[in-house]
Amino acid sequence: MSSFPRGLVLFAFALTLAVSGASTPRTALGQSLAIGNAGPAHLPYASNADGVLYKVNGQFLRPAAAAALVQMAEEARRDGVLLILRSGYRSRDEQSRLFFGGARERGISLAERARVSAPPGFSEHHTGFAVDLDDARDPHYLRQSFDRTKAGRWLAENASRFCYELSFPRGNPQGVTYEPWHWRFVGSKEARRVFAPAREMFAPDVLDSGTAPDCGGNTDTAAADTETTSGATVFAASENPSEVAVD
Ligand SMILES: [Zn+2]
Repeated sequence: MSSFPRGLVLFAFALTLAVSGASTPRTALGQSLAIGNAGPAHLPYASNADGVLYKVNGQFLRPAAAAALVQMAEEARRDGVLLILRSGYRSRDEQSRLFFGGARERGISLAERARVSAPPGFSEHHTGFAVDLDDARDPHYLRQSFDRTKAGRWLAENASRFCYELSFPRGNPQGVTYEPWHWRFVGSKEARRVFAPAREMFAPDVLDSGTAPDCGGNTDTAAADTETTSGATVFAASENPSEVAVD
């Protein structure tokens, strides 16, 4: 089945939910849906706040994702790359503020906003398995030019070994704007289950072509020593990350 019609349905669903939840004027809804026919397909994600979250670099993540991220940051640091974690787990309320507040501030429609930001209930950040990363020494604050930084290039080359993959590469089947800073963890059973609908939209030969063979999600043991690895020594300090959270 082509993913295209499915995308349209999900996007309309996203906007309906988002708009009904925030009492946005009806004109905005009409305008959004009109444009939304060619818009991105944001998929629904449950908020994972009830699960165990670990604090890493001032942000919260699921244990297995946190452990892998800390290992990745340690290795990056050995290669002379200092990562900064801009954003990890995000609640629906936080996403709501980002989505609707961002649209208001920029004076754009919700459909335009949806190209670069997921509506509340539709962000991978709700899962606690997704991160926004930046180069601490050459910060690009979640701009596409991040892919030309030392950190951006290092991640493109190495993140797959830590079971992180780019959620929205150029030309991604969801139609979301290219986000070289936004990575999702796919190295545990739960993470695989959570991201299965999004990952299945990719062609089979693309899916898993970049991630390490042992990222099959057979165990969650990677989280075992997370409690002692807060990441404080391997990341740069994060300054007010909410100001740069966009997607
Ligand atoms: Zn993100």
